[in-house]
Amino acid sequence: MTDPIKSRVASLVRPEILALKAYGVADPGDLVKLDAMENPYEWPAEIKHAWAERLQSVSINRYPDASARRLRASLHEVMGVPRDMELLLGNGSDELIQMVLMALARPGAKVMAPTPTFVMYEMTARFVGMEFIGVPLKPDDFSLDPDAMLAAISEQQPAVIFLAYPNNPTGNLFTTTDIESVVEAANGLVVIDEAYHAFAERSFMARIAEYDNMLVMRTVSKLGLAGLRLGLLAGDPAWLREFDKVRLPYNISSLTQASAEFALENIEFLNEQTARIRAARGKLAEALGAIDQIELWPSSANFILFRVRGKTASEIHDGLRQRGVLIKNLDKADPALENCLRVTVGTDEENTAFVHALQALVR
Ligand SMILES: *Cc1c(COP(=O)(O)O)cnc(C)c1O
Repeated sequence: MTDPIKSRVASLVRPEILALKAYGVADPGDLVKLDAMENPYEWPAEIKHAWAERLQSVSINRYPDASARRLRASLHEVMGVPRDMELLLGNGSDELIQMVLMALARPGAKVMAPTPTFVMYEMTARFVGMEFIGVPLKPDDFSLDPDAMLAAISEQQPAVIFLAYPNNPTGNLFTTTDIESVVEAANGLVVIDEAYHAFAERSFMARIAEYDNMLVMRTVSKLGLAGLRLGLLAGDPAWLREFDKVRLPYNISSLTQASAEFALENIEFLNEQTARIRAARGKLAEALGAIDQIELWPSSANFILFRVRGKTASEIHDGLRQRGVLIKNLDKADPALENCLRVTVGTDEENTAFVHALQALVR
């Protein structure tokens, strides 16, 4: 017997959507949460206080400033956006990816990215009916494979290429020369996704004006404001003007605008937190490197990718969960990530709890 609702749903929803699995977010419960690249630190009490006070001045009965003028000016300065370049804001950089693809989704237009990478490039391509082309990174060190990339670009002529810099989930920075060769070979747009900028030493922000087909995207999520949902796309106004047309009105709430402005005025405490995370990353990498059954890759982000030997990634993931620690199992995410897991850098205490549980499990 067929369920009448189910058959109506199946006849109306696009087959490529029916075939998708929704973006999975694990319920952390009471677990030590090291799965989502969040900043583990709370705000200092006096900062929290001043923030709550600031929010009192928001006229919540009114629509937000539709163009978020003050916030954009503040981000322009704090993020080092070159003069003459503009900013477009999104409800998280996820929404910016969506806006770019909505604007570029002509019939036959393609999205390209080296893989494994951030899954939302491919998911969003699907949502808007664009074909996604993944070009495998080199399997040993996850560097860009320039020959494969340039061949794919010339053959497929993608409308847009996403390069996560550093890349998620591998944690590495592609070399400057490899990125330059991709941008120069592309007839389409290249978006450099600097979501992990706070943890990397390098950026293409100062160089946007050098290329007429390159934009830089950032988010405040990994910096420590994941709950706000705020991303930014920097580039030539000629690009951003068009993407702005597909932006939903008032996409940045007045609470987000006020909170982000406040946080940027007090950016030093966030910079201190990210410096602590970078220091903790070094200690965590060292502790992981000392475990025989673990192979790990160097990271310029706030997470570490590693592979286990002798046990399966699922055994490790479930075992950690039972011991109270939640990380991300990537074993099924990409052929190159067989038996790999990704751990977010937490506080020293959280990292130690994770390492101890892992040591007990790999034996
Ligand atoms: C986390 C992440 C994002 C999404 O950031 P939001 O601003 O929280 O939507 C974008 N790109 C990469 C590479 C990420 O890892």
